[in-house]
Amino acid sequence: QAKIAGKNCYRFYSKAMDQAVERRMQLEEDLRRAMENDELSVVYQPIFELSSGLLVGAEALLRWEHPDKGSIPPAVFIDVAEQTGQIDGLGRLVLQRACARAARWERSGEGEAPFVSVNVSARQLRLGDLPEIVTAALRESGLPPNRLHLELTETAVLGDEVQASLLLGRLRAMGVKIWLDDFGTGFSGLSHLRRVPVDGVKIDRSFVADVLRDPDDLALTTAIIAMAHSLSITVVAEGVESEGQYAVLRERGCDQAQGYWLGRPMPAAELERRMKA
Ligand code: C2E
Ligand code: MG
Ligand code: MG
Ligand code: MG
Repeated sequence: QAKIAGKNCYRFYSKAMDQAVERRMQLEEDLRRAMENDELSVVYQPIFELSSGLLVGAEALLRWEHPDKGSIPPAVFIDVAEQTGQIDGLGRLVLQRACARAARWERSGEGEAPFVSVNVSARQLRLGDLPEIVTAALRESGLPPNRLHLELTETAVLGDEVQASLLLGRLRAMGVKIWLDDFGTGFSGLSHLRRVPVDGVKIDRSFVADVLRDPDDLALTTAIIAMAHSLSITVVAEGVESEGQYAVLRERGCDQAQGYWLGRPMPAAELERRMKA
């Protein structure tokens, strides 16, 4: 009896696993087609300086509009692309498009043009050719290196700190700015900043979400700002969804912010209209 149940159990799990593998393979195939058929686009979320209220930059975010399945969130397909290696091509695509876009802002505006911030995944860092890929994207677009920011998560950097600091050091020597994304979630943050050279940290939106309700989150956010500033590191708050959050972050000396309250991710043309306004 037990043996039969065990067997059924095994078959149940194996079937569920098969389905997961099948879904992944389907997604991989869809993604390959998406890259060929131009179903992928890049949207831009504005980043503002808190002291002046000025738009100072934008984060480039990938979007996939599947012809049958509708829009597929990056949280789903970036993960698959990481595992299949498709992230290499995707990463290059985003870098090229974002640099080309920001080079246009550079040419068209008076005063200091907004920077563009591009997300880099763990695998892109592990491959080791990131400086070459970035150099090519900058050269092709004509974008000055200091107008490009790269966002890496703590976990991506954590994997191999020696390799990471070497690569990031080369990029920083070129003038590219390095930001730590989702900062605070890894909780390795503090000691890390001494070993891995970064120009900025983006406070994860889970802290920002509760900054008005939860005194602990406010204390942590305030501590991150103070600690970063003592190391001459810029602080950006992510996920600002209300005026109250914006006000308290500004009062605590946070440098920059992005979030739905300030502006959703939008097509480049729409962002360009906002830059003029
Ligand atoms: P992330 O880099 O932390 O990007 C911020 C995410 O928060 C974006 O989600 C953005 O739309 C969302 N967001 C912005 N403001 C708010 C807000 O006020 N409230 C809330 N609830 N959310 C807000 P999105 O575009 O779905 O991207 C999710 C993640 O996917 C990104 O997190 C990033 O890790 C990854 N990703 C997106 N594009 C790329 C890419 O081109 N390359 C790589 N490697 N990863 C990417
Ligand atoms: Mg990011
Ligand atoms: Mg983030
Ligand atoms: Mg909390």
